[in-house]
Amino acid sequence: MKPLTIGIAGAGIGGLAAAAALAQAGHEVTVYDQFDTPRPVGSGLVIQPVGQAVLARIGALDVAEAHGAQITHMLGHAAGKRLPILDVRYAPRKSTPRHGLALHRAALFHAVHLAAATTGVTLVASHEVTGVTDTAQRQLIFANGDTSPPYDLIIDAAGAGSPLSPLKARALPYGAIWGTVDWPKDAPLPDHQLSQRYEAARRMVGVLPIGLLPGGTTRKAALFWSLTRPELETWRTTPIEAWKADASTLWPDAAPYLADVTCHGDMTAAFYSHGSLRTPVARGLIHIGDSAHRASPQLGQGANMALLDAWALAQALTAGADLPEALTRYHKSRRWHLWAYQAMSALFTPLYQSHSRVLPALRNHLLAPMAQIPPAPHLLSRLVCGDLLPPLQAGLGKGMKAP
Ligand SMILES: Cc1cc2nc3c(=O)[nH]c(=O)nc-3n(C[C@H](O)[C@H](O)[C@H](O)COP(=O)(O)OP(=O)(O)OC[C@H]3O[C@@H](n4cnc5c(N)ncnc54)[C@H](O)[C@@H]3O)c2cc1C
Repeated sequence: MKPLTIGIAGAGIGGLAAAAALAQAGHEVTVYDQFDTPRPVGSGLVIQPVGQAVLARIGALDVAEAHGAQITHMLGHAAGKRLPILDVRYAPRKSTPRHGLALHRAALFHAVHLAAATTGVTLVASHEVTGVTDTAQRQLIFANGDTSPPYDLIIDAAGAGSPLSPLKARALPYGAIWGTVDWPKDAPLPDHQLSQRYEAARRMVGVLPIGLLPGGTTRKAALFWSLTRPELETWRTTPIEAWKADASTLWPDAAPYLADVTCHGDMTAAFYSHGSLRTPVARGLIHIGDSAHRASPQLGQGANMALLDAWALAQALTAGADLPEALTRYHKSRRWHLWAYQAMSALFTPLYQSHSRVLPALRNHLLAPMAQIPPAPHLLSRLVCGDLLPPLQAGLGKGMKAP
């Protein structure tokens, strides 16, 4: 297809990855974000092997790897129980060595931003998008009343709060508070593992090694604590030391990480929602990443899905005869993978975050032992790695192997 003019709303993970991939394919790309200086929010996340494959293709993997921590194992115990409840290895016996790449959002942003900037993408800050015109060539509408130039294609990558997305997602009862802390000297936990501790499914504390911040030299960890919205209000009025003592009682190994938290402002709350657009494409408009599908981060797939969407779109525009055909091809290539992961996320989340008494008992006494019986360890590994199903179809996935 001939090169297109493309406007992207949102310079987050999906928006910048799409911008880099599309500019590399010869399209003229401009990205708009509401931030004065585009910057990421939040703490750590894990880029799974399928997401790493996309980072490699857009030229962002080296920078991401230079910052991140390699995760080979996800291990979680219920308080007072010896046997693990969550025990997923990225490379179970006799399988290809793979790992998750855990990093701070700022480091991931730095990597994709650099990849986009070096391919000639134009980044326009301080532009809050409020809508899109319904004209033959669409334009973005901004909060100050201005409009963008007309584009052949507009990509909505404005995340979970996108004003362009018609998605009405179901709010989930649980979220978490997240903090970035120094990786302690004499740390009690391995630095290649996501470690978690649970009390039923009501409480959870976790530690994820995330490597270095851009320009930093001190290794960091992401620390998270699961809670509901009413619990967040109570937490805000509870002295921070009381909460730290509570969390340390649930999991003594978390204490050296909690030591770095000195006030409530050191932790940021994030709440999750669940849902997908049935059709993420319209004439001259496409929704990718969280603007098209949202899930809790239990499976650690949201950023990977945004990266895969970005890559699939660039591939579809190259393979399609014209724009409508390319958008249809994009939709076909992603729908089953997205559907399966959304379904798995809906299934797994209440086992780890809910008020249920039955589900954690089922998890502890039935699912956790079953997860140790072959082929379950291999299937769980592929689920987490992001390729339980081929991530791209409709002929777009050729060569899409994780590094
Ligand atoms: C606490 C937490 C932990 C997570 N952990 C993981 C994990 O381990 N692994 C994983 O894969 N995923 C994880 N996720 C999910 C992941 O962060 C998201 O799925 C991913 O960031 C989605 O990327 P995106 O590009 O769609 O949106 P975002 O990265 O959110 O980017 C959206 C961008 O759009 C901009 N924007 C928003 N509104 C406007 C507007 N009106 N005008 C202009 N610009 C706008 C924002 O400023 C932002 O830059 C986690 C999420 C949370 C909340």
